[in-house]
Amino acid sequence: MSATPKVVVSDVKAALAAALGADAVTTAPDALDAYTADTYWPALAADAAGTPLARPEIVVRPRTEDHVASVLATADEHRTPVVPWGGGSGTQGGALPIHGGIVLDLRSLDRILEIDDTSMTVTAQAGVNGRRLEQELNARGLMLPHYPASVEWATVGGYVAARGSGVLSTRYGKIEDLVLNLRVATPATGLIETVSVPRHAVGPELTQLFVGSEGAFGVITAATLQLVPLPAERRFAAVAFPSVNAGIHAIRRALQAGHRPSVVRMYDEDATRLAFAPVVGEDLSGVYTVLAFEGDSEAVEVEERRTLERALEAGGQVLDPALGERWWDRRYDFYHPPHQPELPAIWGTLDVVATYSRVEAVYEALRTAVREAYADTGLELRMHFSHWYPWGTMIYGRFVVPDGGPDALALHDRIWEDGMTAALEAGGVMNDHHGVGLKLGPYMRRQHGGALDAMRQIKAALDPNNVMNPGKMGL
Ligand SMILES: Cc1cc2nc3c(=O)[nH]c(=O)nc-3n(C[C@H](O)[C@H](O)[C@H](O)COP(=O)(O)OP(=O)(O)OC[C@H]3O[C@@H](n4cnc5c(N)ncnc54)[C@H](O)[C@@H]3O)c2cc1C
Repeated sequence: MSATPKVVVSDVKAALAAALGADAVTTAPDALDAYTADTYWPALAADAAGTPLARPEIVVRPRTEDHVASVLATADEHRTPVVPWGGGSGTQGGALPIHGGIVLDLRSLDRILEIDDTSMTVTAQAGVNGRRLEQELNARGLMLPHYPASVEWATVGGYVAARGSGVLSTRYGKIEDLVLNLRVATPATGLIETVSVPRHAVGPELTQLFVGSEGAFGVITAATLQLVPLPAERRFAAVAFPSVNAGIHAIRRALQAGHRPSVVRMYDEDATRLAFAPVVGEDLSGVYTVLAFEGDSEAVEVEERRTLERALEAGGQVLDPALGERWWDRRYDFYHPPHQPELPAIWGTLDVVATYSRVEAVYEALRTAVREAYADTGLELRMHFSHWYPWGTMIYGRFVVPDGGPDALALHDRIWEDGMTAALEAGGVMNDHHGVGLKLGPYMRRQHGGALDAMRQIKAALDPNNVMNPGKMGL
């Protein structure tokens, strides 16, 4: 699909201004320039080189959920691409308007509509900022237990659309476990609302159809999410394991016995040395793991004791819990200079999930295909395991090449190709919580096989003219 011609842009702009009011629609160059990159490395590199990967032709800032439906109707009528934009913190290029058209900036849909203290739920519009929501909930003794490292920038809609996860996910689940229902606008249906609770038998669960749909099926305008009380106690522990495999064994046993630490972050030897040690300010080597336990004090004590027993049985050494506390206090430092790389470096996160019977093979496959194969570029691969389930865990494989050189983009793409191929062939699933976007679109067929066709049919039914975020998710 090519960018819409100028004459159509002016028609579309006029139609949008008539529906939403002129102040909700802009084509001012400065405004358009703000949507050329999310945090996808190729987009950041292209911006820095002065050749952006994408630029919208119109930016719309809807103030009501009905406005969103009107924008989709107009876009559909004029066959104009429309790309939802939450906080723009996505790492996969999902929010980039690669075919021009409309960027729908949802941050003005910023009302917290209801906090139900009895059911412990919140209903918030899609554009509500993660940090603001947390502050308002905390003031009432509650929290949304979804704390991505991007909480300052990301929005409620972006959490849901990218099927994200937070630092406390091992206890409370990913965003899909916290969503009760959604309001969504699609070109085919206008504004619809899914069933109010996630456990029912009134047909298939449509809420989950839109969780992870990354703006390709429609626009999430509001979400009702499960809350929990602020924990009476959050206690930290730190363990050094003799190997990654020993650590996986210990944590698997604890989880399968029913224990639910809120944080389990296990750094492999490279990640301990290159990422964990600099942030906590110590010279460390080994497989360092931070754990947290939270809730009612008595339960915390039992969970901590039983989990640490498993760690000791696996040969782990229990360390001063102050190390865990320091990690918690500094956990956002990983994403800021000097710990966050900057151009001309290349970086990316190979975020892979696998069952316990396969995860060690996936881990080794990534080390061979990325760490060893690209050692001559100076690449460093720091892998940690941070979102754990009773059946498996995710590998957060952060690679950094100090200087990409003149062919940086080609090198970036080769690393991804080799990493994804290795992970998929070893039985991994190519993403746990960052989503697909542009980056992983080419691998969707390999990931889903024939099921990708079912996804395409669903998109065609909801978005028959392919105006919703076209070119993403391999659809
Ligand atoms: C430093 C850093 C740390 C991060 N840490 C984490 C982490 O711990 N956990 C995690 O899960 N992710 C993390 N991310 C990735 C990212 O922040 C998440 O994917 C986040 O959920 C995206 O939210 P957003 O509002 O910024 O969405 P955007 O980046 O604006 O959009 C993401 C995708 O969702 C679509 N979209 C946005 N809003 C809507 C909507 N209302 N309806 C339909 N589609 C929509 C967009 O079109 C795009 O395809 C991190 C990113 C950075 C830069």
